[in-house]
Amino acid sequence: MRPLDLIRKKRDGGELSSDEIQFLVRAYTGDEIPDYQMAAWLMAVLIRGMTGAELSALTGAMLHSGEVLDLSDISGPKIDKHSTGGVGDKTSLIIAPVIAAAGVTVPMISGRGLGHTGGTLDKLQSIPGFNINLSLSEFRRVLRACGCGLIGQTADIAPADKKLYALRDVTATVESPNLICASIMSKKLAEGIDGLVLDVKTGSGAFMKTEKDSVHLAELMVQTGERMGKKMVALITDMDQPLGLKVGNALEVEECIEVMQGGGPADLREVSVELAAWMLYLADRTPSVDPGRLLAAELIANGSALKKFREIITQQGGDPGVIDDPLRLPQAQRQSPFPSPKSGFVNSIQCEQVGIASLVLGGGREKKEDIIDPAVGLILHKKVGDPVHQGEPLCTIRYNSDTRLAEARNLLQQAYRIAEKPPGAKRPLIQRVISGKGAQA
Ligand code: URA
Repeated sequence: MRPLDLIRKKRDGGELSSDEIQFLVRAYTGDEIPDYQMAAWLMAVLIRGMTGAELSALTGAMLHSGEVLDLSDISGPKIDKHSTGGVGDKTSLIIAPVIAAAGVTVPMISGRGLGHTGGTLDKLQSIPGFNINLSLSEFRRVLRACGCGLIGQTADIAPADKKLYALRDVTATVESPNLICASIMSKKLAEGIDGLVLDVKTGSGAFMKTEKDSVHLAELMVQTGERMGKKMVALITDMDQPLGLKVGNALEVEECIEVMQGGGPADLREVSVELAAWMLYLADRTPSVDPGRLLAAELIANGSALKKFREIITQQGGDPGVIDDPLRLPQAQRQSPFPSPKSGFVNSIQCEQVGIASLVLGGGREKKEDIIDPAVGLILHKKVGDPVHQGEPLCTIRYNSDTRLAEARNLLQQAYRIAEKPPGAKRPLIQRVISGKGAQA
């Protein structure tokens, strides 16, 4: 087989066989195909798309480029959740303990922040001592000990994705729904799970800005997971404004603790409970989604989720004292209010701009090698629809550098739109549910 022929075939709209796709992935991962040829093929995929069979073959080839965890020695179902990424999107830190507290194993391999979106690993690393770099054998030990582990992608998990992702990042081929699907699903399926709940974000803070694009990606992922024998469901959830009130790594951990203490913002609670309910249902822990909602809420209300979070932090070497005393989390040295330029109602919040504001404060990376400042971020005081007076703070900026503060302010100025009248109907938080055959409600 020659890469040149396979590039040409895709360029001209042909369908590659499973053998051809496996050849490309194996040879590229083994450094036998140069970046320029693989980049040309990726671009042909982005433009021409893929058939379902091609997408399954690509996902399978990427999945089997590394280790696939066999967790059959741990009894009971193993279920995970994956979000396509957003701003203030911190539900994993709530959901994982809730589900583990219900007796379902959650082997969560997560990512770092990508672009303007935050990442679970960066948030966890704001907990002093928390080790996200467990070997796979340590990961198993933690899963056995407390039913949940949260780690990063090791070198053994889907190495083809690691190499392909880096190439896509610099060749304008990240945005292909097929390539996003194969990338996400190859990592998630390597976890040895029985089922997966996808949180596909839609709106100004998501990678997929429109409902149509979000639904398309969700369908691709649900179908691909089902072809691999997994129970699958995708929830399309709103990301047209940040989720919750806190954006920034340590701040988001703090907000998750607030939710598990029975407080926290209603939108974050609602999305977390909804995703958790679907996980409980996929795990056959509840006969349908409704009792799953009740059980998830109960595990939060009776303190079981928080107790489990304490166990997880301890098992992964972190300081569980942050739960009782959030001041043990990294704290920014300074804070500054961001006042409303006029009186009225918050009409919209350009969510991506808010994410970038947190990033420029130091909460995310502009370059791969940038070091995150876990303490910085934003505390929102107003969300879409809220009335505001001129000069009243829309949010508070937590920062450590004056230059970065100025940049963040500029971005926030563009992010908020204040209008005389309240905006129309609120966008629903849960916009659609796309369930596979094995996960009909
Ligand atoms: N997240 C991933 O892991 N891969 C993508 O391609 C996009 C988002």
